[in-house]
Amino acid sequence: MNTTFIDTHCHLNFKRFNKTREQIIGESHNKGVAIFIVPGTDLFSSLKAIEIAKQDNSTYVAIGIHPHHTFNKEASNTMENDIHELEKLIIHPKVIAVGEIGLDKHMYEDTKYENYQISEEFLNAQKEYCIAQIQLAKKYKKALILHNRETKKEIIEILDKEWDEDVRFRTVFHCCEPDEGLLAYAQEHDIYIGVDGDVTYGGEKATFVKKVPLAMLVLETDSPFLLPEPLKTQKLYPNTPANIHIIAQYIADLKGITMEEVAEVTTRNAKRLFGLKL
Ligand SMILES: [Zn+2]
Ligand SMILES: [Zn+2]
Repeated sequence: MNTTFIDTHCHLNFKRFNKTREQIIGESHNKGVAIFIVPGTDLFSSLKAIEIAKQDNSTYVAIGIHPHHTFNKEASNTMENDIHELEKLIIHPKVIAVGEIGLDKHMYEDTKYENYQISEEFLNAQKEYCIAQIQLAKKYKKALILHNRETKKEIIEILDKEWDEDVRFRTVFHCCEPDEGLLAYAQEHDIYIGVDGDVTYGGEKATFVKKVPLAMLVLETDSPFLLPEPLKTQKLYPNTPANIHIIAQYIADLKGITMEEVAEVTTRNAKRLFGLKL
């Protein structure tokens, strides 16, 4: 296959892939995935992503603390410590972004934390981490992978203060919610929109992606999550980067263009976003 893709968001660092990682990387190469961007969600998974990237030329890393993991911590584990640890990792040459970071008010059923609640303190911790990590990205001139769920108002408040020319074309709303306001903000600030397998479920997400100019889109699988259709109905879990062509084809059909065009433009966008000169 001549068509090449960049999976801008896949958690190959998750335990789920411990036994299958090499095989999945090989299968994904065969399906045209040239590059994997593996984001951390905490210090452990950030370090793990670096370990994978050391072994595999096609893997690049984002390091960061996901909003879920900004609270319920050991008392000794302060944000200052976490940022200090991230700062040690960020100098590795395969680290090209800070992520995934952001805000999340969604009430998840299934988390590793007991009595998961979105308290005011939790939201404040999320904001502090988000701001500190955006500043870290700017200090080291890295790209930014933003996770935002049910927090449009709050994330825009933060970006209004923190966004500057250094992060123009260097930021992505990963797995962007189908929201006209977010799209308008992204358009004004040259922020990319990440699209995942859930676009294939149709509905609002598909209607939204149809409206997003191709020049703003990047592809991501969020593996092992968000398995695209028809694989979801067939229960062919887990999702892997090898499925990214399904997302590209779906977007091509939505926009009435070829999959090759989707691949070419989104790959070019991803290279600019992450500063990849390949
Ligand atoms: Zn996310
Ligand atoms: Zn993710």
